[in-house]
Amino acid sequence: MTASSQEKILIVDDELTNIELLAEIFDGQYEVLFANNGSKALEIAQEAHPDIILLDVMMPGIDGFETCARLKAQRSLKDIPVIFITGMGDSEAEVRGLEMGAADYVTKPINPPVVLARVRNLLELKQARDQLQRLATTDGLTGIANRRHFEQVLHMEHENHVRRGGELSLLMMDIDYFKPFNDSYGHLHGDDCLRRVARTIDEVVGGGNNLAARYGGEEFVCILPDTDPASAVALGESVRQAVEALAIPHAHSDVAAVITTSAGVVTSRCYEDRSVLHLLAMADEQLYHAKAAGRNRICASSAQ
Ligand code: GH3
Ligand code: MG
Ligand code: MG
Repeated sequence: MTASSQEKILIVDDELTNIELLAEIFDGQYEVLFANNGSKALEIAQEAHPDIILLDVMMPGIDGFETCARLKAQRSLKDIPVIFITGMGDSEAEVRGLEMGAADYVTKPINPPVVLARVRNLLELKQARDQLQRLATTDGLTGIANRRHFEQVLHMEHENHVRRGGELSLLMMDIDYFKPFNDSYGHLHGDDCLRRVARTIDEVVGGGNNLAARYGGEEFVCILPDTDPASAVALGESVRQAVEALAIPHAHSDVAAVITTSAGVVTSRCYEDRSVLHLLAMADEQLYHAKAAGRNRICASSAQ
């Protein structure tokens, strides 16, 4: 695949001459972003999501290693390939960089054709890997995250919360009277309804570190990191209302004339000896209560 002008490279170096030299190499082929220190680099990475980062090791303030560590600690940034720029013959820095998850390194003085070739190779690899990753983590019918991805992210967020504290919330939703919908309108309409509901949930909940996924059948789950009980319930309520507002006609529902959902919300602190299964079971229990209490509503619980 050829390099497209949409691909973004973030160059991080405290020396202006290096930035200029590197920028010249990529001029016209990639969109080039710059930072002259680690903190700025993290800010830009967060905002612009570059496709690749060229990172100088020796910088005042937070150095390249620390910048790399902070990138790798964020779920949304950890997969951006990092190429370290190291001093000539500094093999210790090269080894350390690669061990920290850097994809490659280049040595100063910078040799433009070598840097360009390495960047191209990594971008091609990244495209192939991104495509595989999308296929493996996306639900085929609805296009939102699948259950496998949900489970991976839930484990990761659970570990994060065990380590640094904070409340983790889960939202588990199920379409009301979906079997009669399928039976009366047909499976194709059922599929279409699932896609629309999934997209709506994803839009309302998605973004940041939140994740919306299809759990199976007509059930959906959302991971809401660092979310207290009141915010989790408020978000759940927004989702419930947004699905109802789609106004998908459902003449065979006992609760409304349109498609509705019931939801269970749970908020908890995370501990090593309390598994994610416990959280899931609590959310499931609240969903059951919401169904039993008449559907098209949310039930919530929280634990310390
Ligand atoms: P409740 O209000 O208690 O949730 O009742 P319900 O009818 O929604 O629940 P039930 O679990 O009995 O039925 C779920 C239905 O979802 C059964 C199945 O036909 C339908 N379903 C599951 N996966 C798919 C799918 O991928 N496409 C379509 N069209 N329907 C599906
Ligand atoms: Mg169900
Ligand atoms: Mg249902």
